[in-house]
Amino acid sequence: MFETLPQYPDHLALEGEVLAWWEERGIFEQLRGRNRGGPKFSFMDGPITANNPMGAHHCWGRTLKDVFQRYKALRGHDLRYQNGFDCQGLWVEVGVERELGLNSKREIEEYGIAEFAERCKERVAKYAEIITDQCRRLGMWMDWDNDYYTFSDTNIEYIWRFLKECHERGWLYLGHRSVEWCPRCGTSLSQHELINSYAELTHPSLYVRFPLKGREGESLVVWTTTPWTLPANVAAAVNPDAEYGLTEEGEWWAVDLKPDATFTQRVRGAELVGLEYEGPFDRLPAQQGVVHRVIPWEDVALDTGTGIVHIAPGAGAEDFELSRVHDLAVLTPIDESGRFYEDYGEFEGRSTEDVEGPVKIELERRGLLVESGSIVHSYPICWRCSTPLVFRIADDWMISADQIRQPMLDANATVEWTPDFYSKRMDDWLRNMGDWNISRRRYFGLPLPFYPCQSCGTLTVIGSLDELRERATGGLDQLDELHRPWIDEVPIRCDCGDEVRRVTEVGDAWLDAGIVPFSTLGWQNPEWREHGYATGAAAGLTGADLPDHTYWEKWYPADWVSEMREQIRLWFYSQCFMSVTLTGKSPYRAVLTYEKLLDEHGREMHRSWGNAIDAAEALENIGADVIRFMFCEHVPSQNMKFGYGPAGEIRRRLLTYWNSVKFFVDYANVDGFRPGKRPPGELQPLDRWLLERTEQLVAETTQQYEQYWSPGVMRAFDSFVDDLSNWYIRRSRRRFWNGDRVALWTLWYALLRSVQVIGPVMPFLADFLWRRLRAEAAPESVFLEPWPEVRELDEELLREVAEVRRVVELGRQARGDAGVKLRQPLRRLVVQGAELAGRHADEIAEELRVKEVEFAPVEAMEVRFKPNLPLLGPKLGKELGAVRSALDAGEFEHVEGGGVRVNGHELGADEVLVERRAREGWALAADDSVTVAVTTGLDDELRREGRVYELIHRVNTMRKDAGLELTDRIRLKLPAADADLLEHADWIKEEVLATEVATDGVSEPEIAKV
Ligand SMILES: [Zn+2]
Ligand SMILES: [Zn+2]
Repeated sequence: MFETLPQYPDHLALEGEVLAWWEERGIFEQLRGRNRGGPKFSFMDGPITANNPMGAHHCWGRTLKDVFQRYKALRGHDLRYQNGFDCQGLWVEVGVERELGLNSKREIEEYGIAEFAERCKERVAKYAEIITDQCRRLGMWMDWDNDYYTFSDTNIEYIWRFLKECHERGWLYLGHRSVEWCPRCGTSLSQHELINSYAELTHPSLYVRFPLKGREGESLVVWTTTPWTLPANVAAAVNPDAEYGLTEEGEWWAVDLKPDATFTQRVRGAELVGLEYEGPFDRLPAQQGVVHRVIPWEDVALDTGTGIVHIAPGAGAEDFELSRVHDLAVLTPIDESGRFYEDYGEFEGRSTEDVEGPVKIELERRGLLVESGSIVHSYPICWRCSTPLVFRIADDWMISADQIRQPMLDANATVEWTPDFYSKRMDDWLRNMGDWNISRRRYFGLPLPFYPCQSCGTLTVIGSLDELRERATGGLDQLDELHRPWIDEVPIRCDCGDEVRRVTEVGDAWLDAGIVPFSTLGWQNPEWREHGYATGAAAGLTGADLPDHTYWEKWYPADWVSEMREQIRLWFYSQCFMSVTLTGKSPYRAVLTYEKLLDEHGREMHRSWGNAIDAAEALENIGADVIRFMFCEHVPSQNMKFGYGPAGEIRRRLLTYWNSVKFFVDYANVDGFRPGKRPPGELQPLDRWLLERTEQLVAETTQQYEQYWSPGVMRAFDSFVDDLSNWYIRRSRRRFWNGDRVALWTLWYALLRSVQVIGPVMPFLADFLWRRLRAEAAPESVFLEPWPEVRELDEELLREVAEVRRVVELGRQARGDAGVKLRQPLRRLVVQGAELAGRHADEIAEELRVKEVEFAPVEAMEVRFKPNLPLLGPKLGKELGAVRSALDAGEFEHVEGGGVRVNGHELGADEVLVERRAREGWALAADDSVTVAVTTGLDDELRREGRVYELIHRVNTMRKDAGLELTDRIRLKLPAADADLLEHADWIKEEVLATEVATDGVSEPEIAKV
């Protein structure tokens, strides 16, 4: 007996049951054991930040990772299954700050950096556990006790080595530059953190007068949306080639930007250069000694503002560059937290936003404000805390990208990207990437191992813990892990003899993730160290070993990685940068990337909008298999709409498959069928087709899995299920009723194979069904059964039945268009253009309820030509009517290229519309190459047969409603009006399992169980 299936699958319950069973039977361990020593498939997991529970969007990547790992394992590959957690840097810090209610760096320092680090570690441990549970629930098979944690000392040491290498090559430098700065986080951000991090914000828009010195009554007018930068103004820039004019009010503007003004004087911008003016806040101590003058700048825009740009080199990137060219004073108005320094008078201690009002009031009071309003524009914000960014001058540690750029491009050329156009995106990023800003002025992150000596000027970069121990002058006894504040207590001895302290900065978190192809695989590590990766903050969280170099050689580079498209400028980039630096090679051979998850209405998901869906919520409501199905079916280069609506749709679609399995189980049990290795009798043509169709499914899904293209897998599965259910089972119903064991065996075989190939996508459902369907000798889990071999297909047979199905589809369409019910038999069907289907005329006749099927040119078709009005209306004008009538009457000739000659006009193929219509008494449907026509006329015989089909349908519904078993026999009574149907009594009896059918005094048909 096969275990029976309920009417509908309870996905949540069956997933819970399978999960527990996997655990209990150690299925994953068995699979790993079986594959050990097999060909390697190296997958490198991009770390997930252990800072929050997973969102639904995380399930996308996790699903794809698991699907292709499972597939490779089914093919006998040996895999590592190491999961990674990202553990330090701004994400985690901001999370802990929120948790503790801290809102500035000062508050963190008051709280204590050591305590703060402890809270960060606790947070990582907590969320790593939650994420692990959620991934297991999603069905992800990983080696959960051997995760890598990027804050382990081992990981940090490997980054140190990389940084030392950069230093030795002369790539490392301290950049003194104007940078985008988050005043709340108190740190600069690097280029890759800025992309896509913009918001529509409202800012003041001020037009301000700068009175010219020595030119009474004349002023420059500048435009600014950042009033807080005015106290740091040192210059005004004009476009030297543009024309400027002096208005009657004494204001200088670019002529193009004040079209309505009357100018009393016009000059080229170059003539204004060198003029001095009174700065707007000259009285501030910071402004003492600053000479304000007009400078030339070719990039001054002439489409917005006034054509005169206010320059504050301490508060803008381009301004800072100009200060170098023109030797301007650089006034830095704000500190790390975005507050004004003390030499800014009454502004001291206030934020950039707080000074907007006072600045405006003072300008107004002094008559310098020409106009004020507000502007809504796209403005950069911090990617972590959403605070608007400002520009600040800072010294940041940078890695020069000049020398690595070309080698990285070369490395990328070796990578196979899916979808392939992402390769070009990566190239674009690499071509345009600036130097890598690796320093962050924060606390819980990779400690940069930089020790600059004040006396001799040497920068020492420490490359390992051993090296640190060797050179340390103290503090080692308290150094339990390589984090602040402990690492800051370990000074070293410079070559000159002086004691030197570490810089206080920590590193960009993308260094942490980028090094993992080295740190987790034991690059250049002489001896395997058990738990050697579980060091520092990661000790106790994982059992991961630090392998030796031979292991690295086996597993590097990764055969495949998969993350979202954003990672091109993040993890794919940092990994590639570090890998090309250390080995000259790309760290991955193939990449699968995907876009963004949106809500079901196509809006971005945000917690604050209330439309974000947690992974936990999605898993509890939708179930893992359906979620996985959705992600696999979606074309990854497009954003995906996710929600309960689309999930319900998938669940409904899955029912067809479920019902097919249930159908098999029910009939197999009726007949006590037990599957053997071979069919228990001679295969019929339809059986041979289904077996071939099954091999086709195996071939198609295998090919799509090999290409990491899950939508292709789902398409193949979908079309197979349709063929299985709507052709094989439909066409074989009678055989199942009759307990035909060859049909049962064939269906069983097809179902079992389909369960196997869909296993990577829906592992729970697959194992649930496998356990019910498998032959006794087969492995207990579908994941222990080797992947089916792909063999040569009988293409002709497959094409043949595909054509039959097309003809039937078109026939149904034609009947539907003519409004004839499918239960109503018709007389004749003519098929044109499906020669292979000719051998199946009987099946087609039966499917379409027609008496006769003929393969011949369809003559019941009228082809009409009509004028394409939008094109011909203007062309023909008054003659259009005459042309239309001629076309209607068929008075035209065909010309080459699909056009016609009519009434002396030659019309192109696009100028006429072709309409195929059935002649009177026929219904018609066609696709590109096949046309079918069916007669629609009815006679008494056809009408009577139609009524018999209706009756059979009705009685079978009554049987179901009465709860009868499939094998129960009945007695059927008919109303006297149906007496003429008794002509077909045998037919009716067979179809409804009746022992007797007779008319009686009933008004409606009645049934009774015998
Ligand atoms: Zn921030
Ligand atoms: Zn020194």
